[in-house]
Amino acid sequence: MPRIAAIFLAIVLLVFLPVIIPVIIPVVALLDHAYRKRLRAAAGTFACLSCGGILGLESIRLADAQWDEHLRELREKYPSTRFRLVRHVRAICPACGVRYAFSERERTFVQTGAGGGLSAAHEVTTKA
Ligand SMILES: [Zn+2]
Repeated sequence: MPRIAAIFLAIVLLVFLPVIIPVIIPVVALLDHAYRKRLRAAAGTFACLSCGGILGLESIRLADAQWDEHLRELREKYPSTRFRLVRHVRAICPACGVRYAFSERERTFVQTGAGGGLSAAHEVTTKA
């Protein structure tokens, strides 16, 4: 019976996939756009807890660049591994380097630990 259910599910997915994909992609893009807009708005008003400077868009760019570099290093080190990563650091203070995670519910930043969430992400990758 479970085999028949799996075959039925596969057939349903194959039939509806061309219908579902064009709907899902724009929805995901819109959600990501809204998230980044909230992130930029919060960075424009948030004062660094360490130095008092406004984080600004540069802090988001720094965090994105660091994340991209982290991913590039992982791909280089483990070329045939598929990663399941969780990103925590969303802003890095351009003045003092303190790392912040973004609390979407409260629309503010929360200072992360010394590892900045990257160590947690690394734990996940080594288990995978
Ligand atoms: Zn700072």
